[in-house]
Amino acid sequence: MLEVKKLPLGRLQTNCYIAACSETKKAAIIDPSDDGLTIARVVDEAGWTVTHILLTHTHFDHVGGLKTLHDLMPDVPVACHPDALEMLTHAEAAGERWQVPILQPDPADRLLAAGETVSVGNVAFQVLLTPGHAPGHVTFYSAANQAAFVGDVLFRGSVGRTDFPGCSHDVLMHSIETQLLTLPDETAVYPGHGAITTIGRERVSNPFLV
Ligand SMILES: [Zn+2]
Repeated sequence: MLEVKKLPLGRLQTNCYIAACSETKKAAIIDPSDDGLTIARVVDEAGWTVTHILLTHTHFDHVGGLKTLHDLMPDVPVACHPDALEMLTHAEAAGERWQVPILQPDPADRLLAAGETVSVGNVAFQVLLTPGHAPGHVTFYSAANQAAFVGDVLFRGSVGRTDFPGCSHDVLMHSIETQLLTLPDETAVYPGHGAITTIGRERVSNPFLV
């Protein structure tokens, strides 16, 4: 069964999630947004072993803790979609433009393909390609656990910004309609910022969707 810890970190309070398998005590870190030492400490205190570092996308505020975290666990692969690789190489510079200093992350070790399954212990995450907010943005979806880690695609009462380079509102809305609104209403939505919600709640109350 899936166990989740939510850590809002950094100046933009971007949510880092630790998604663990309660049976095997294996865990994935999804979006190490800042403060890699804190993330590693929370994992240790829970008695979990990290098997994956997964990136929904590579905006600087989602990878601010990646360098420190990966240095602490160099054997754990960092995975993102190939279309997100280029932005990762500019993460430190992007942070500087926003007056948010971060350490430049190393390149990703592993590339994710749409539709593939990432297994964290007994918890299987399907990789859904959900671009629009950022190139190569993916969602990590566990059907058995009714959970979707959506990064900055969908929020409680809002959707992802599309006023950055490489963004498209039309592409974003298409991603939401075809990849997220097709999921069951009970699916918990773990967004990159703000409160956890559900697909059902957003379907009926999100002003961008109704
Ligand atoms: Zn973003």
